[in-house]
Amino acid sequence: MAAGGELAFIRSIRDRTGRSRRGALRLGIGDDCAVLQPAAGCEVLVTTDFTLEGRHFRRDLHPAAAVGHRCLLRGLSDIAAMGGKPMAAFLSLAMPRGFTTRAAGRRWVDDFFSGLLALAEATGTPLAGGDTAEAPGNTILADIVLLGSVPRGTALLRGGARTGDAIYVTGELGGAAAELQQISRNPRRFLRAAYDDGDHPHLFPSPRLKAGDQLRPIASAAMDVSDGLSTDLRHLCEESGTGAVVHAAALPLHPLLSQLQPKEALQLALHGGEDYELLFTARSGKRVPPRIAGVRLTRIGEMTSGTHILLERGGKLKPLRPGGWEHRL
Ligand SMILES: [Mg+2]
Repeated sequence: MAAGGELAFIRSIRDRTGRSRRGALRLGIGDDCAVLQPAAGCEVLVTTDFTLEGRHFRRDLHPAAAVGHRCLLRGLSDIAAMGGKPMAAFLSLAMPRGFTTRAAGRRWVDDFFSGLLALAEATGTPLAGGDTAEAPGNTILADIVLLGSVPRGTALLRGGARTGDAIYVTGELGGAAAELQQISRNPRRFLRAAYDDGDHPHLFPSPRLKAGDQLRPIASAAMDVSDGLSTDLRHLCEESGTGAVVHAAALPLHPLLSQLQPKEALQLALHGGEDYELLFTARSGKRVPPRIAGVRLTRIGEMTSGTHILLERGGKLKPLRPGGWEHRL
């Protein structure tokens, strides 16, 4: 972006975010660096996520507000998975040449920030800086860095599970994949909709920040379900040095799956991905409440010795292979 255009653009973002001093943020957008002061006794969490057009979203499928929401959500979900609280977000955004000189482009960027900043506001995550650039070609690329904090030594890790631990998930599975199927069938309906009507697991998933925070004294290991239960459980098992058994009948299926054949519903719940729920384990004797921070917790299986990850269905055990379902963007 030309220097003048970039300055005007940064000013317009700063006008929307404010030069905010809140929580850990001492100084936000406008200086060479942001200044952060984590609470005493806390460690800093850092996570970074690309949001690439054609890979993570399509302009003809996804409303721009949902792209902005999901861009921030992916980082917040990682902070939640570690049991942390968000401190600040940093966004680098590359847009095609001349994008914001056209009304449609300006509207897209405006809606993108509306979605991102609404979630930032709702979660107390100030947008504290970033960068803009001209993208090569006609694609939009966003890179977000999230900083969070967690009391020293209490971050939830993937490697803390032991044989015999029970496996749980928050919320429901498969909803994001089911909604993406609906969008792919009728994108116009979704592009034109006004999203003030609640549950959109693909377009506007909720970060499980409060649940993650409250799980710190309960969970032995945790991560977020971004790639799909079958893939993410494998990561948890690899880091913990365990195997696992998942009970198909125990999986909390998202209500959107009720319209599908049971076999397809099970596939989406196991492999669908992007549900951004928390997958965690707890010692077998640990009391785990049925809900935490307003979110349902469901026991779906157990960690086992060895390295095999199995799906139990109707009393029969089969290997649970990662993936098996690809995003059709
Ligand atoms: Mg993650």
